[in-house]
Amino acid sequence: MIKICEKQVMTVDCLFCRIVAGEIPAKKVYEDDELLAFHDIGPKAPVHVLIIPKVHIRSLNESTDADTVLLGKLLRKAASLAEELQIAGPGYRVAINTNEDGGQSVFHLHAHLMGKRKFLWPPG
Ligand code: 5GP
Ligand code: ZN
Repeated sequence: MIKICEKQVMTVDCLFCRIVAGEIPAKKVYEDDELLAFHDIGPKAPVHVLIIPKVHIRSLNESTDADTVLLGKLLRKAASLAEELQIAGPGYRVAINTNEDGGQSVFHLHAHLMGKRKFLWPPG
């Protein structure tokens, strides 16, 4: 475990921290100081991009009020990437799976941006 500061504890075990660090390759679609977006390795839709904060936040449960602006930027990035990937008009889904019942399998907060197909509601 590499403790960068009180908030940011990057575990060498965290897959997405390793993608941020460039240790594991990913097909990036966007990057800035705070956010990274890349194609999901097992796409569940013709467009399936993951948007993550670079800082390690285990899940939405571990986010705090201090992350409000960061989470806002993440959602706004979902909207602008949807535009860029030409799914904004037809529609898309943004999902943040959280913990076991939510179906979370990678414990570094991420938003799924999915499109180019019709999604069911309620989800399974
Ligand atoms: P979750 O199940 O936690 O909501 O979403 C994790 C997502 O990460 C899954 O959709 C899965 O396909 C994706 N994923 C798992 N390992 C990798 C990887 O090594 N690279 C990329 N690009 N995506 C991954
Ligand atoms: Zn991480």
